[in-house]
Amino acid sequence: MAEMIEMKERMKREPVPMREQLPSERIHNFKEVPLGYTREEAIYEAQRCLQCKNPTCMKGCPAEINIPTFIRYIVEEDFKKAYLTILKTDALPAVTGRVCPQEEQCQKECVLNKRGKPIAIGRLERFIADWARENGVHGIKDSVNKKQTKVAIVGSGPAGLACAADLAKMGYQVTLFEALHKPGGVLVYGIPEFRLPKTIVEYEVGQIEQTGVKVICDQVIGATRSIEDLKNEFDAIFLCNGAGAPRFMDIPGENMNDVYSANEFLTRSNLMKAYLFPEYDTPIKIRKRAATIGAGNVAMDSARTALRLGAEKSYIVYRRSRAEVPARAEEVHHAEEEGIIFHFLTLPVRILGDNEGRVTGMECIKMELGEPDESGRRSPIPIENSNFILEVDMIIDAIGTMANPIVARSARGVEVNKWGYFKVDERTRMTTCEGIFAGGDIVRGSATVISAVGDGKKAARFIDAYLSSGKSLKKQ
Ligand code: FAD
Ligand code: SF4
Repeated sequence: MAEMIEMKERMKREPVPMREQLPSERIHNFKEVPLGYTREEAIYEAQRCLQCKNPTCMKGCPAEINIPTFIRYIVEEDFKKAYLTILKTDALPAVTGRVCPQEEQCQKECVLNKRGKPIAIGRLERFIADWARENGVHGIKDSVNKKQTKVAIVGSGPAGLACAADLAKMGYQVTLFEALHKPGGVLVYGIPEFRLPKTIVEYEVGQIEQTGVKVICDQVIGATRSIEDLKNEFDAIFLCNGAGAPRFMDIPGENMNDVYSANEFLTRSNLMKAYLFPEYDTPIKIRKRAATIGAGNVAMDSARTALRLGAEKSYIVYRRSRAEVPARAEEVHHAEEEGIIFHFLTLPVRILGDNEGRVTGMECIKMELGEPDESGRRSPIPIENSNFILEVDMIIDAIGTMANPIVARSARGVEVNKWGYFKVDERTRMTTCEGIFAGGDIVRGSATVISAVGDGKKAARFIDAYLSSGKSLKKQ
């Protein structure tokens, strides 16, 4: 068994890097880029943890994982206990271990971050979740006393899954309604295979289903069933339908054939298995030069997907500078390694096309940064007479998404703000309608997997408090 090591040695050790597929190879496949830690690497990294009495890392984890405890079990090579420790509060560890922005959360708060060497908490979490999956270790308990009380969850993304997992553990009868033919939300239709393999999401969703959660797909709440229908059948409702409606730039030429929203482009690639071409024939016409507009995670995913699907050149066009790029640093680094070409301080103003409505180029204007706006970021200002044509034949809009109003329209008494997001009580996540709760992107706007998980967990806690006090939607 491995041992705790001397404090001096812990401080001296460098963080263990993760092996990755070479850029020259990975641009030709959709396999995962980072390869994960080996057993030895995970133990070596875990031994660096100081096992702080006041573990600041935990303050940065919305899933409330007991970080030092699971790391200590890795050092002791008791991987099962490490897994069960994580699973107590996070039902999606292989997912969160891969896509959480740990550098902004637990690792940012890790005491070793002061020396620039935080513990690689996400990588260790991923190692343990993968070990459990590969070794058939699970945390499903058969002994939960089932209650008669029923909860409906609208949307099966990370917010819905986290809420469902926690409520099922408490014994509630949970039904998850999903509009698409597969559960998982953005985890299955948004984030590409090379960052989050679908089999991993399917496995963790399957584990949640095995705790008794019923998943009903192909149900668009607000169309096939209304919220009023659900109110008659369920004691409480959690709305977590995401913010999946695409936003466009609203510039001339945007209605041409080769202009996609990132949402549509990535959904086709993921759900219709474009990444398995030619085994699966999908209707994404990839052209030689693709421009993705925006610089968030969605933009990086789109530009890198276009490259893997056969674009010879893949550009990122962003109106601010590199310092303002919202994507995770690791994703930008991977994109650069793969040869994605960045055009910073550049704003598209018009899309050019031929007589058949096919894109032939994009007129852009150069920008400079002015004073900070309300988001604290410096506003980009156009530089006069700096227009130029970027020669591209395919465009992907990745400038953000917004609320789809379909659920809100059918939810009488549930108020939304001016952007169409549900208004909730910060503490309880209850909407303006008693017994109806909401969380994830449909409350926050496009955010992160872990903030959605945190919302789902918080909602579960307050749904339990609401139902335990004898209240129910059916009694209203
Ligand atoms: P979603 O994941 O959007 O799930 C909502 C679900 O509700 C969907 O399955 C939808 O089909 C369903 N639904 C919608 N309407 C209805 C209806 N009427 N009836 C029934 N079901 C309905 N975050 C990170 O932390 N790290 C990343 O690396 C990262 N990368 C991203 C990459 C992409 C391409 C995208 C799009 C997002 C990324 N995000 C990332 C953001 C993150 O995925 C979201 O913040 C998170 O998924 C929000 O979770 P959610 O449960 O609120 O909603
Ligand atoms: Fe370990 Fe860092 Fe957490 Fe301390 S703050 S317990 S060193 S992960």
